[in-house]
Amino acid sequence: MSTTSKQRTIKKTMSYSGIALHMGVRAHLAINPAPVDTGIIFKRVDLDGAPTVKASAENVVDVRRGTTIASRSGAAVSTVEHVMATLTANSIDNAIVDMDGPEPPIGDGSALPYSEMILEAGTVELDSEAEYFSPSKPIYIEEDYATSVLLPCDEFKITCMVDFKGTPLGTQLYAGTITEEEFAENIAPARTLCDYRDLEQLIAMGLVKGGSLDNAIVINDGAIISKEGLRFPDELVRHKVLDVIGDLSLIGKRLKAHVITVKPGHSTNVMLAKKALESIS
Ligand SMILES: [Zn+2]
Repeated sequence: MSTTSKQRTIKKTMSYSGIALHMGVRAHLAINPAPVDTGIIFKRVDLDGAPTVKASAENVVDVRRGTTIASRSGAAVSTVEHVMATLTANSIDNAIVDMDGPEPPIGDGSALPYSEMILEAGTVELDSEAEYFSPSKPIYIEEDYATSVLLPCDEFKITCMVDFKGTPLGTQLYAGTITEEEFAENIAPARTLCDYRDLEQLIAMGLVKGGSLDNAIVINDGAIISKEGLRFPDELVRHKVLDVIGDLSLIGKRLKAHVITVKPGHSTNVMLAKKALESIS
């Protein structure tokens, strides 16, 4: 395995439209190629002057229902983690993501639509070395019942455990090396968990077809009620891994690290990313 590689961007502009889950409106997103050292930039094309916000842990302003980033001028983009995870897993260091609102389309609650877009577009190497982050010593955070450690490693590895004791979901473990293939096959299709009560409002507004429940693994009183059922027996932990990849991408460099995380959430993921960033400066 070579120790360095070239920076990459998406080969051509790709777009995607769909429902923004929390806002309940239609949203459009386009991922555009960008030059060396751009990083990942979100652009609010619906606002005056099309303000931008860089995908960086420093710009995180909210972690409650997803990860929200905002610029000082207030241009905000919420729920960036599925788009970010897909870009990062495909080694896309540079891209400009146009959005016509504050939230990307939720799709089916997984990163599959984004993963398919990027696989279809392809990526292209740029004429500069990619930057990597590898911790020089373990970085550790703890919050409530969650614990995460970032260890030095030659690859990007994740070991993740979640626990839904008392529900049919039980305790789930993921351990793997995050490559493009691993992401596309085993991580991107894993959907988020959604409580039926959150969906009811969207259904009432006619934005989600009531019978399809196709924006998440839908849980009602501890039981899975989504029509599709589970895509993997351990779909929940795989989705947690997806969110970990997306949130840690806010470090802004490719990772050579082993993340060991128990019951992660956006809050702990972002704390870890911030601590990693602090260790660089
Ligand atoms: Zn997620």
